[in-house]
Order: sequence, then structure tokens, then C-alpha cells
Amino acid sequence: QIAKNGKKMPPAAIAFYKQTDYSLEDLVSKDPAVDILEEFSKKISEFKPSLIAVSSMTTNYYQSLEMIQKIRPKCKVIFGGVHPTLMPESVINEDVIDYVCVGEADEALVELCEYLDKNKDTSNIRNLYLKVKKGRKVIIIKNKLRPFVNLDTLPPPDLSIFDHRYFFRPFLGKIYKGIYMSTARGCPRGCAYCVNNRLRNIYKECGRRYIRFQSPKIIARNITYIKKKYGINWYKFSDDTFLLRPLADLLKLKKLLKPLHIMFGCSVDPVTVTEEKVKAAKEMGCVSMSMGIETGNEKIRKYVLGRNISNNQIFEAVRIMRKYNIKISTFNMIGLPGETKENIFETIKLNKKLNIPDANVYVMYPFPGTKIYEDFHISRKKFKNIPAMEEAYLFNLSNVKNEELLYFLRTFNLYLVLPEKYWQKIEKARKSPKLYTVLIQIAQEIINKNLD
Ligand code: SF4
Repeated sequence: QIAKNGKKMPPAAIAFYKQTDYSLEDLVSKDPAVDILEEFSKKISEFKPSLIAVSSMTTNYYQSLEMIQKIRPKCKVIFGGVHPTLMPESVINEDVIDYVCVGEADEALVELCEYLDKNKDTSNIRNLYLKVKKGRKVIIIKNKLRPFVNLDTLPPPDLSIFDHRYFFRPFLGKIYKGIYMSTARGCPRGCAYCVNNRLRNIYKECGRRYIRFQSPKIIARNITYIKKKYGINWYKFSDDTFLLRPLADLLKLKKLLKPLHIMFGCSVDPVTVTEEKVKAAKEMGCVSMSMGIETGNEKIRKYVLGRNISNNQIFEAVRIMRKYNIKISTFNMIGLPGETKENIFETIKLNKKLNIPDANVYVMYPFPGTKIYEDFHISRKKFKNIPAMEEAYLFNLSNVKNEELLYFLRTFNLYLVLPEKYWQKIEKARKSPKLYTVLIQIAQEIINKNLD
């Protein structure tokens, strides 16, 4: 199949096209394969910005930095996001970076733009680390953080800068126009593999409450605006724990969102799942919930990962979500410190018992700033050499060989779909691509049958 512009259609787009109201050109109007560095460099020379702002997590920090180092733009460069917030000193020491934003940039970035525009001195802007020349010396100024922003004062997101194809998302075999949207900030937990604890410490000087919710009125205002202006009808609330809100707040939100007829997915913590809250979420348009199980072994979950959640609490949460016909997905990690092959099978078995057909599984990545990163004394040098999420197994934190970890990553969902009588064959298929293909076909048949 060829689109009108002569470009070939990717197979996935052809499959979805048949089930959507959008035109072929809507979905694939030009070849999306571009050289990012070339495209970025072209944009910069055409647009001639005064400031480049890069938001980065650890997994894309080194790649973003490398791009800036290769292009060496003539304008100012600011880095913000989780990684620069956790490691501001090392980031500001890069010679291509002029500013680092520590913490939330909602107000600091606007202030920086205004100051640069008016040629004003930027050295006292709160939340910013910056370099200043004093004679021959370069000194680093570390400004204090400002109080947290009130989420209700933020405008709705401006989506006009995005290519409209960015919004298309598949869900249960159909394509919807969807976006990620944040309605709260902060999380009460302190998981050992998460930067949340460290962020809470950094934000201590911000004074006000670390956990904040946008009011139901503002959420409804934003969704009404986005739906009308961009035709977005699918939302993924990217809040750490959507059901953390008090029930009264969720009931208000339900009243306001129900008439908008939207669909949304969200992440939940098993201990926040109650009948009343899930019922309210369902009635306001919730169709899917994802939940972190991380491991099937309760002791590893509690003592290594710092998540004091029992398997019984997970079962109860799943029971309630199923009662309200919510699609459930789980997040799982392998390659955990001290983990054995048997422990990985405990995680597979727990997902299987919960009847989860498609689990998300990752090899644990010891992000800087997390307890696990500190506990295992991971050096920055080692970190710089292993930046990609997919290469996290190279940290060698578990007792499982790397090749086995990678095979578990590939076959985790195969174990969930195929009955236990096939499990030995999955193990054998590691050395037999032919057998592996056969098992995939059997799994596919089971999935198709379930869809029917
Ligand atoms: S529940 Fe999620 S966001 Fe909260 S600390 Fe744990 S991993 Fe981080």
C-alpha cells in the first residue's frame, strides 16, 4: 500500500487504518524516518533561537548532551528535568551548558526568557544554577529554590507545536487521538529504585506540600479546551498514583468529566484502590489502570525495593478493578539485586495467577539519586558507559546471567500466555529459533481466540 505522497505505509499503520475514522494521509503523511541530529541542526539554523531548553531524564541525558556538543549552538542552553535536578553540579560543569534548572521550571523558565529578552542580569533567578565569569575565573552560582507552583495557576498545555501524528495512539485495536496529561505532582512512597525520596529532600526548601493535586475544576477546564481545540478524546494521566486523591475530590471530578465522554488510563498504587474510588474513576471515563507489582517475592519487594505491599493487597486491587471492567496492566522488574531465576518465576507466576495477559517488564535500572544506586556504589564512570535503558542488565546486580535475563525479557509475556505445560519448551527454545517461532504461533492463536 502506498500513500498519496508515494511513501510506503508501515504495516502497523495499514492494520490500524482499517479500524479508524482517520484518513491514510492523517496517519502517514510523510516518511517519519529522519536523522535527528541533522533535523535539529536545521531547525536551529532556520529558527535562530536565543535559548535552547532541554528537558532530560538520565536515559536521554547523554544523548541530548552529545547533540548539543556536536552542534555547539551560538545561543544560551539550559538543561532541566529529573537528571539535572539530581546532579546539577555535574551538569552545569559541561562547557556547552549555561544554566541548569533544579526542580520545577514552570516559573523559572518563563522568568529566564523574560530576563534574557530584556538583557537583564539572570544571576539571581531562583531554581537556576549558572556560570558567571569573574575576571579569568568562571564561578558557579547556585540559587535557592522558589516555593512550589500552585498547579491551578498553570494554563492548559499548548499542543499546537506538535505534528498531529504525535497524537495517534492505539488502544485495544483502535486508534484514538490521545495525550499524556499531568494532574498532580509528588508521591508519598519512597521506593528504593525511584528518585522520589531524593526529590522530596531537594524540595524541602520549597516549603509548601510536596504532594499537590490540580483542582477538579481546572482539570475539567483543561480537558474541555483540549478536546474542543485538538479533538483529543483519549488521556493518560501521568500522575504517579491517580487514586491518591481524596474520594470527595474524585467524586467532584466525576461530576465534571462524565458529560465530556472521554476515555482515560492511569497508574495506581494497589493500596489506594478501593471500590468507591474505582467506581468513580470508571464513571468518569477510566478504561485502563496500570499498577507496579515489580516482583512476585514479597521479601524482595519490601526489603530490597522498599515497597511494603503484600501479594494479597495486589490480588484485592485486581479484583476491584476487574469488577468495574477496567483493563489492567502491571509493571515488573527483573535483574534485581540478589535476585535468582526462581525469584523471576515467582514474578511470572504472580502475574499468571492475576490473569494478566500483557505485563510490562524491564531490567532494573539503578538511576542516580536512588537508594539502590547509593547502596551498590555505582560509579559515575560506569554509569556514563551504560546509558541506555535496554542495557541495564550490564550493571550485573542480580544472580542471573545476562543472557538469561535478556531471554526472560523476551519471553516474560510468552510465559503468561502459554499454559505451564509449555514452560520447559520456552526454556529449550532459547537454543532453537524454530521452536521459538512455533511457541509464538501457539501464543498468537491463544490471544486471537481470547479476542474472539
Ligand atoms: S510509587 Fe512510583 S513514583 Fe512513588 S516512589 Fe514508588 S516508584 Fe516512585
